[in-house]
Amino acid sequence: MRHRKNYERDDETFSADAYTVNLKWAAGVAWYVLGWETEPDEDTEWSGYENRTGRIICVMVGDDEHFAFDPEDVTPLEREAYCGECGQVGCGHENTI
Ligand SMILES: [Zn+2]
Repeated sequence: MRHRKNYERDDETFSADAYTVNLKWAAGVAWYVLGWETEPDEDTEWSGYENRTGRIICVMVGDDEHFAFDPEDVTPLEREAYCGECGQVGCGHENTI
């Protein structure tokens, strides 16, 4: 089962193309930051609003499974530093034009 989470876009805060995640299992791959994780509370049913949890929702480049990380665990990545096809940092198989 895929993990889909609700989130609020924030392209101003997360303006980089991609990020690295400073966690052992997530290293070596580029990640996109989608926005702030949100969760419904008891008011959501009538307000339509969800609350930010303080964490951010990220997906691996080339994948669409949502993971929640702490904002301080991600670092902006130069576009040249990762592969847009397989998402690996330092992969050379994508020819940049
Ligand atoms: Zn590649």
